[in-house]
Amino acid sequence: MPAQLLDGKALSTALRNQLEQRVSALRLKGVVPRLEAIVASQDPASVAYVKMKRSWALKAGIESGQWEAGPTTTQAELVDQIDKLNSDPAVHGVLLQHPLPKHLNEDAALIALGAEKDADGLTPQSLGALVAGLPGFRCATPLGITRLLDHHSIDLVGKHAVVIGRSVILGKPMALMLLEKNATVTIAHSKTQDLPTLCRAADIVVAAVGRPEMVRGDWIKPGAVVVDAGYNRIEGRDKDVGDCHFAECSAVASWITPVPGGVGPMTVVSLLMNTVDAAEAQLGKS
Ligand code: NAP
Repeated sequence: MPAQLLDGKALSTALRNQLEQRVSALRLKGVVPRLEAIVASQDPASVAYVKMKRSWALKAGIESGQWEAGPTTTQAELVDQIDKLNSDPAVHGVLLQHPLPKHLNEDAALIALGAEKDADGLTPQSLGALVAGLPGFRCATPLGITRLLDHHSIDLVGKHAVVIGRSVILGKPMALMLLEKNATVTIAHSKTQDLPTLCRAADIVVAAVGRPEMVRGDWIKPGAVVVDAGYNRIEGRDKDVGDCHFAECSAVASWITPVPGGVGPMTVVSLLMNTVDAAEAQLGKS
């Protein structure tokens, strides 16, 4: 029997509808949640992602704006913009869309961003809170994945999870969030030996690599859960693909995320949920 779909599109739409009610309640109290994006104007994928995030924000009643970092933007101008957003009470969430132009220091920009507006959960303060198990904004993509698994009552306790990829935005926080849920976690990366054998021992495989269809069906233990966070465009193909070979993996797995329509929309809705959390927290303080 083919795997059941972990349908991120359906769940994210339901969550966005629920969010509209929280946004309406905030608006009645005079608070209009606002998400601001800082985006590299020269990167088409980045511009497209931010466009999608902003259009979802508008659908949920969240206002949004964007500031473009171009080839002539200096680090001082970038930090100055972040300082302005930090101190603007009308702004509740700030998204620093990766990648920024190469001449700009992204780490320094994240250090400058106030943790209370870190809707993407990527400042060192937010990441430190995740490591320490303290409250704070969690990274939107792994947070969206854990929501998708929770929604489908996928039991993680004592299960062996293999996370392929160790990026700061995805692999590492994903591993920590699975650990928080009492999974036994292995992190794989480009230097890992015999990845197929490692994956075959996993109850849950999370692919976060950026290599089209790298994970094959015979890497998957029958009945395992496959979460495909990859998103890859292939020249000449009309459909974007993930890091897992969908047809092969879905023939073996019990559950699988489609690409598109799995992890992507869960990332967007989690970013918006973090923004609304930030707006509610700010209202609570005032
Ligand atoms: P990244 O920063 O390039 O990290 C990729 C990771 O994969 C690295 O840790 C790398 O290992 C590892 N890797 C590369 N080749 C490998 C191999 N042959 N075997 C095992 N591991 C290997 O990428 P990212 O930003 O985490 O993104 C990963 C994918 O997720 C991309 O397709 C991206 O588009 C997608 N993504 C999706 C969303 C979403 O919302 N759906 C959000 C963010 C990213 P090393 O550390 O050793 O180099």
